[in-house]
Amino acid sequence: MNIKILDKYIADKIAAGEVIERPLSIVKELVENSIDANADFITIEIRNGGKTYIRVSDNGDGIHSSDVTTAFQHHATGKIRTLDDLNCIETLGFRGEALSSIAAISRISIFTRTEEEILGTKVIIHAGKEVYHDSIGINKGTSIIVEDVFYNTPARRKFMRSDGAESSAIIDFIERIAIFYSNIKFRMINNGKDIFNTDGLSNVKNTIENIYPYKEYKSLLRIDSDNFSKEIKVSGYISDPMTTKKTRKSQIVFVNGRIVTSKTVDKGIEKGYGDRVFAGFPIAIIFIQISPKLIDVNIHPGKREIKFIDDSGIINCISYAINSSMKLEQSIPTISLKIEEKLKDKINEPEFKGLDYQLDLKSFLKDKREKEVSETREINNEDKAFSDFIDLKEDLNPLINKLEFSNLNIVGYLFNTYIITSIDDSVYIIDQHAAHERINYEKLIK
Ligand code: ADP
Ligand code: MG
Repeated sequence: MNIKILDKYIADKIAAGEVIERPLSIVKELVENSIDANADFITIEIRNGGKTYIRVSDNGDGIHSSDVTTAFQHHATGKIRTLDDLNCIETLGFRGEALSSIAAISRISIFTRTEEEILGTKVIIHAGKEVYHDSIGINKGTSIIVEDVFYNTPARRKFMRSDGAESSAIIDFIERIAIFYSNIKFRMINNGKDIFNTDGLSNVKNTIENIYPYKEYKSLLRIDSDNFSKEIKVSGYISDPMTTKKTRKSQIVFVNGRIVTSKTVDKGIEKGYGDRVFAGFPIAIIFIQISPKLIDVNIHPGKREIKFIDDSGIINCISYAINSSMKLEQSIPTISLKIEEKLKDKINEPEFKGLDYQLDLKSFLKDKREKEVSETREINNEDKAFSDFIDLKEDLNPLINKLEFSNLNIVGYLFNTYIITSIDDSVYIIDQHAAHERINYEKLIK
């Protein structure tokens, strides 16, 4: 058997497979290059999940005409020159592999101009071969268009998922990177449609709202671990415990700027909310700054999972940050207007004594066995103040028919303690701590 050195074309394709797994990998490399080039406005446009078209345009430093061809060669990087540089890398990409790898498996066009040049450069490369090279009048910055990903590597092409799956992976990534780099304006376009624009004004909360223009994101609470730990700093934004999603997808975690997933962080979030969460997962966007010494270095840097040396330190720090924000007034969500107004009137009345008593859930549920309850209850005088302003339907004598707990609609959350629920035109207020005790009690009896 002869041993041969692989033809450059084949070698490039093999190497590219390692760097470029799917359209997301291309977007990631290109956006990281734009950030490294000091861009403060980056546009990402994709079509068909990025399979047929990816464009990343930036207003960064650009590449000088004399360097463009070199930038597409293996181990071409403007970011490290010596071994020493390797130890103090502050940029995102440094392997010098991205552009050459992308070029090897696609048709790529680059338009770029530096500040000092009058004319920019346009280069087109097909499967690693330069097919066009000329000057062009363009704005300062770099625009890279990647078309027909894996067109010359059919085996790789098969491994791509549906257009929808590939595009949502890309959009998810850009959402996260845009939150982290709130100083950079991001524009995300999918199949010709604007998905979001961030303002790049360095305000994390505004950036989150730019990306998720929904009601539940407007009322996020700020969290901060303050001086809880010297080595770990936790900050970010979370929802109140009643605002939850079905999956963990709305829980975004950055560790030292890297987007990660971690069971330890999940535990910290759970512990922080304690038994306040009834179903689903609260929204959480969490930034963790930690000494690199406390991260397990054996985890591959390309992987999203992260392992910490001291799990309980992380859990406690996150839990402290969340728990202390819950105790602040900010955590009381806006309650429905009708109740709020009545509450205001009540508070202004001189005889109002406050809400320092709890709804007696135990007697409320006294005869409840299994799932159903059927009872008529007279609200006694002590309950009067409460029932007055929650507008129970029949003055002081509400009729409670076959209360089916699973039919209750949760409408709000009051004083960090009461869950306001409704069925039809009736309002129910549940003391969540009493309810929790009750659930434990029922379990114990069973
Ligand atoms: P690396 O980022 O690891 O250095 P790449 O293959 O991603 O390697 O890029 C090669 C070089 O091309 C970079 O070091 C940089 O000098 C230049 N470059 C790539 N993209 C851009 C960009 N958007 N703006 C300016 N320079 C760029
Ligand atoms: Mg790079």
